[in-house]
Order: sequence, then structure tokens, then C-alpha cells
Amino acid sequence: MNKIGVFVCHCGRNIAGTIDIDKVVEAIGKYPGVAHCEDYTYMCSDPGQNLIKSKIKEKSLDSIVVAACSHSLHELTFRKAVQESGINPYLVEIANIREQCSWTHSDQEKATEKAIKIVRSIIEKARLNQSLIPVEVPVTRKALVIGGGVAGIQAALDIADAGYKVVIVERQPSIGGHMAQISETFPTLDCSQCILTPKMVQAAQHPNIELRVYSEIEDIRGSIGNYQAKIRTKASYIDNQKCTGCGLCSTKCPIKVGSEFDEHMGNRKAIFTSFPQAVPNRPVIDSEHCTYFLKGGKCRVCQTICPTQAVDFDQTDAVIEDTFGAIIVATGYELYPRTKLLEYGGEQYADVITGLQFERLLSASGPTEGSVKRPSDGKVPMRIAFISCAGSRDPEHHMQYCSKFCCMYALKHALLYKERVPDGEAVVYTIDVRAGGKDYEEFYIRAKEEQVICLRGKPGRIIKDGDKLMVWSSDTNSGRPVRISFDMVVLALAAVSSSGSGELAQKMKIPINAQGFFSEAHPKLRPVESLVAGFYLAGCCQGPKDIPETVSQASAAASKVVAMFNQEVLYGDPMVAFVDEDLCSGCKICITTCPYNAREFDENKNIVRVNEALCQQCGCCIAACPSNAAQQKNYTDDQLLKMMEAALGGE
Ligand code: FAD
Ligand code: SF4
Ligand code: SF4
Repeated sequence: MNKIGVFVCHCGRNIAGTIDIDKVVEAIGKYPGVAHCEDYTYMCSDPGQNLIKSKIKEKSLDSIVVAACSHSLHELTFRKAVQESGINPYLVEIANIREQCSWTHSDQEKATEKAIKIVRSIIEKARLNQSLIPVEVPVTRKALVIGGGVAGIQAALDIADAGYKVVIVERQPSIGGHMAQISETFPTLDCSQCILTPKMVQAAQHPNIELRVYSEIEDIRGSIGNYQAKIRTKASYIDNQKCTGCGLCSTKCPIKVGSEFDEHMGNRKAIFTSFPQAVPNRPVIDSEHCTYFLKGGKCRVCQTICPTQAVDFDQTDAVIEDTFGAIIVATGYELYPRTKLLEYGGEQYADVITGLQFERLLSASGPTEGSVKRPSDGKVPMRIAFISCAGSRDPEHHMQYCSKFCCMYALKHALLYKERVPDGEAVVYTIDVRAGGKDYEEFYIRAKEEQVICLRGKPGRIIKDGDKLMVWSSDTNSGRPVRISFDMVVLALAAVSSSGSGELAQKMKIPINAQGFFSEAHPKLRPVESLVAGFYLAGCCQGPKDIPETVSQASAAASKVVAMFNQEVLYGDPMVAFVDEDLCSGCKICITTCPYNAREFDENKNIVRVNEALCQQCGCCIAACPSNAAQQKNYTDDQLLKMMEAALGGE
């Protein structure tokens, strides 16, 4: 017979404000098997933990139930506390009477009744718990970083500097992400490429970093400490060992198409290097536009001209497999499609462009070498509208959330335009200006001082008016309708999750939120970890962020990985699935059901076994097993049935 100790926490007024603690203590004190029941204001505090420890000794308790907040918050705290008193940590249970009771109810009587049932049900579980030993998992001290924007680069450099190997997988031909496209960065207006390219080069030259560009993840299996990733590198048709990056091939290629890096404001060739400072500085052949591929082996100009015979039209995709101890997701963001903004003309007006297109116009290495020119006729626009929240903060038609960096870059665009065209007029339309960052408010004031006009009110429509664009809005300060004619309009489009994030999340089996951004384990306390152990998040893949925030989060994710790699061995949760050998019929249904390949067949005994290091405790096998042979440690069917009886039973 167990001697169960139950400790009821008030959590200040969080629990005690709704639940009658005395009544809970009285009812639970009489429950079979409960050797001691006591309450305290803050059970997680040092005195609270000491109280538990002293009662374990005094009453020779052998199982503990703490009725408090969610187990995700303090389970570890209490497990550690009881371990110090000689009790196996898996003999501690948390009865959640805060999130699942006091916070969700206001009727004290009913909430108290429910709290008692929750505690009783957890006592039933505790009664049948087994002492468990954590599963030892060896660690592969090599990290995978998916996405080579500033987030991925920073995270990789930090891990590599700590002495561990890192592979960056980037789907574009070069690392750099959106920061490489940006001309100057707010609030300091320093040149984006000047601060980013040294980091790109550092990453390429770091002995601990391997770059796999033009590559994507095909499959990921395994668990923390040992994830097996299959990486597909697209054929670039260039032998990178032979190529010197001289660029001759691109100059002679006869095919011109819109440059993705220049956001189609300029052209590139069918054989191209994304941008002059690309890392690695090697071209790729775009087989969708290359004459050789379209016209059955014709052209070959690049191959003829290449001084090192680096062009190889027979190259095929390469797939490699590698094992990683931890994975950082840094897949960034994309802009909300303009086609969805019909109120702003969709894509039909040449002189309505996106913020990233404007960055390319402003950039000295861009298609206009830094001059602001209208795409329709190449004239210098004398009045530009910069519209923030284009697609953001619009729950009825577009995205509900704030894209965070748009207000600031719209102001930056207006300032940089005024610098390039001092007689020009810059009007920034905003719902309100969100300048919440270091020196951001000062930047906003500076923009206004430099004659940038800020109009409060989001335009409802843009209409073509001859060679001008009429922007309709209402000034929300005065309440009056405003109609202004512009030469050009720049949309600060909402930032959305990168295309393919959903599929990638499915491959990795990590959660994303309703908007498609990767979800963190806890928004406040675990903001850089995914809910799945061994996965970390960096940068805009988790939600829109400016560069300083992206870099901080990347370093935070890297430090988590380094801390993990510094451990000799990892200890996995032992509450994994197990097989009752006497009941297992060897039907193998569980093997096909397990999404983590954690089940293997034992030919000799004709039964299935669980690889405890791989089991993620999802429970699929338990639901699938027709013989009831598949069970989960400390969550057996017997325990669950007893818990239900206690929860549903009356007085
Ligand atoms: P990204 O830059 O988006 O990089 C993500 C990388 O992951 C990309 O290289 C992408 O190709 C790759 N990737 C995506 N999916 C996959 C996949 N499945 N597999 C492999 N690789 C993948 N911030 C500032 O602080 N100052 C500014 O002045 C500023 N100006 C801006 C101007 C504009 C117009 C915009 C739109 C944003 C601006 N920002 C600015 C914000 C800045 O762009 C972001 O903070 C920064 O780029 C975020 O970096 P990231 O690495 O998280 O994402
Ligand atoms: Fe130069 Fe040949 Fe490489 Fe093209 S493929 S950059 S021509 S070495
Ligand atoms: Fe596989 Fe079962 Fe473990 Fe889920 S609980 S990971 S199905 S062995």
C-alpha cells in the first residue's frame, strides 16, 4: 500500500481565489491511501519544497501529488525536490487545478468540487506509478540549420565558434536571405550588405561550417541527440571544384529572365550568380529557362566559354544523409502575395511595387544602381506613397497580426527616397506608427523632421489615373476623406511564413500556428525552443522580427544547442511505450503505426520491441495494438481507467 502525500498550492490567489482550499484538503485527507495532505501559499517556493521534503521524511511518504499549476511549469521542480529526499522522481504527479480549474471557472463551489475530482484522479495514477530510470541517449555533436538568412548564419557561427560542426541547408543558390536584398537598415541606415557579407564569408570559411545551398530537406527522422536528415541538393550543372567564379559564362549566356534576387526589377541570365557578393560565389543553371534543356542540347555557349570546363549538363540532384544532434529552423518569411490585395490593384499597376522591390531600387548594386525610377517609364517619381499594414492588421480580409517591421521600413524608405530625390514628396500612410525598438522612436521623429509626411489612415483603394495613381483614404485624425495623386506607390506588405513551411513542419513533426509560423514551446519562457525536443527556432520563421531581434534569437537558439552538446549524454523521458511480451501476437501493426520508427520486430521471439531512445510517447501504437500488448510506462490502461473512475465518480 502506497503512502501518498498530497500538497495543495494556493498559487497566491490564482488558485485560492476561486477554489476553497480547506475543503480540498479536508476531502483529500480522507481519501484512501493518502497519508498526509497539506496546503501552502506557494508550493514551488523554497519553503514549499522544504515542506514537502520534511513531510516525506516525517511520514515516510513514498508517492507525492502536488495540486498546483500545469505540469509543464513545475513538474521538474517537484521531481528534483523529491529526488533529494530519496524518492524516485517519477513517483511525483502534478494535479493541475490552476489552468484546468481555477482559471477556467468562477463558481467557487463547482470549481472546488472539480478540483477534488482532479486530485483524486491523479492520486489513482500515482498509486500505480512505477519507479523509472531516464533513458540514456548518446548525442551526435553536429547541428543542422535550415535556412541561411541572417538568423541561420548567426546561429551557425555561434555553434561553430563553440567548437561544434554545423551544416546550413539553404534552398537558394546563396546564403544571405532577405537581409542581402536590403539597401540600408533602420534605425542606423548602415549598408545592409556591408554588415552581412562579412558574416556570410565567415560562415563559408569557418572550418566547422558546411554550406549546402540550393538544397532542401527531404526527410527527417529520429529524436533529440540523433536526427537523421535526408538533404537534396538540386543540380546546378556546375562542377564547383572546377569553377573559379569568374562569371564569364553569365556574360555570354543569351537568355535573360527576371531576377528573383532583384524582385524582378532587373534581369539575370539562365546561368547566373544571384548577386555579386553571393556566397558561395558559384553560378547555377536555371534549367527552366536554359536553351540547352528547352531545345534538346542546343546552345552550350557557357560550356564553350568556361575556361575551366566547369559546366556539366549531365549533373543530377544529389541526396545525402547525415545525423544531427539538434536542428535549428531558420526559414524566415516571405511577403504576402500582392495578387490578394485587389484594393491596391493586385499586380496590374506597374508603379505599385513592394517594399523589397523598393529596396532593390535603392540599392547601389541593384538594377538602377540606387536611383529611384518608376518601373513603367523610368522617370524619377516626384511623389511617392508608402503604405504600411498592406495585408497586416486586417482580420476581415487579410492577416490579423502586425508584421512588426513594416512601419519602420516604410519610414526608412521615405527617408531614403528624400535623400535620393530631395525635391520629392514622401507620404507615409499608417494606421498608427509602431516604433517600439531601441532608437526607433527617434528615427520616426527624424523622418518627420526631414519632411516625411505621415498620414493617419489606411488607404482603401488605389486607382490608375492616367500615368498617376490615385490613393483613396480617410484621415483618421480629422475624419475627412483624402484623395492624393502619386507617381508611385510602395506597399509594406505583410510578412508571412516562407512557402513550404507547412510541409517542412510535417516532415519534422513540429507544430506551426494558424498563420503558418513555427510555434515556440512557450511564448514567454521557452521562446526559442520548439515543443519537440532537439528543435529550436530562430528569426522570422517563428513570426515577423527585425534584424536585431532575429540575431538575438538566433544566438539564443545556438546557446541552447551548445549547452546540449556540452553534455556527456542526454537523459530522455522514460515514460515511453513498452510491450507486454506475453500479450504481443507479433502482428506488427504497431510498427506501421509508429511515426517515429521506434518499433522493431524481434524475429527470434516473434514479438515487437520499442527503441526507447526513439519513442516520442505519442501513443499511436497503444491505440493501434489489437492485443493490448502496447502500453506506456506510468500511463497504462489500468491507470487511465482508474483515473477516469475517480474523475467521474460521485462523492
Ligand atoms: P530570411 O531573411 O527570410 O531568411 C530565411 C532564409 O531561409 C532564406 O534564405 C530562405 O531562402 C531560406 N529558406 C526558407 N525556407 C527554406 C527551406 N524550406 N529550406 C531551406 N532554406 C529555406 N529589419 C531591420 O532590422 N532593419 C531594416 O532596415 C529592415 N528592412 C526591411 C525592409 C523590407 C522591405 C523588409 C520586407 C524587411 C526588412 N527588415 C528589416 C526585416 C528583415 O528582413 C528580417 O528581420 C530578416 O531578414 C530576418 O532574417 P531571417 O533569417 O529570419 O529570415
Ligand atoms: Fe567561370 Fe566557368 Fe565558373 Fe562560369 S562555370 S563562373 S565560366 S569558371
Ligand atoms: Fe512509436 Fe509507440 Fe513510441 Fe509513438 S508511443 S513513438 S507509436 S513506439
